[in-house]
Amino acid sequence: MTAIEISCLCGAVKVRINGEPLVQFYCHCDDCQAVHGGAYIGVAIYPSQAVAVTQGELVSWTLKSLPRQRCAICGTPMIARVLGLGGCGVLAHRLPKGMFKPEFHIQCQHALLPIKDDLPHFAAFPARFGGVDDTVEW
Ligand SMILES: [Zn+2]
Ligand SMILES: [Zn+2]
Repeated sequence: MTAIEISCLCGAVKVRINGEPLVQFYCHCDDCQAVHGGAYIGVAIYPSQAVAVTQGELVSWTLKSLPRQRCAICGTPMIARVLGLGGCGVLAHRLPKGMFKPEFHIQCQHALLPIKDDLPHFAAFPARFGGVDDTVEW
C-alpha cells in the first residue's frame, strides 16, 4: 500500500494519505467554481479513513453543502468531505506529479466552456455515484 504526504503552501499543515483513490475526476460545479476561482477542478476521492491530518490546524468552511478544509494560516485548500461519495476529496494539483488519473467529468451542466477530451462528460453525477449517467454533447 502506498502512502503519500501532501502539504499546504506554508508547510504548517501536513496530510497523510494511504492507498489508492476511490475515483478521480474533474468537477465543473458552480460550488467549486466559486470557491476555487477557476472554471473547473481536478479531484481525487479517497476513503475517509485513508486520510489523516498529521500536522497543523485546518479550518472548515461550507459554501452550500460541502465542508472544505483549509490551512488555518495560509488558506491553502487541503481536503473536502465529499459526503455524497462517502469520501475525502483532495485537489489534483496537491498530489504528487503523475498521480492524477481522471476517469470522467462531472457537473458539466455548470461548465463555463466545453472541454474536448476522450473522457465521459456527465451533466451531473454518473449512476455509480447516485446520478443518472446523462452526458452533455461536447
Ligand atoms: Zn499553510
Ligand atoms: Zn464541484
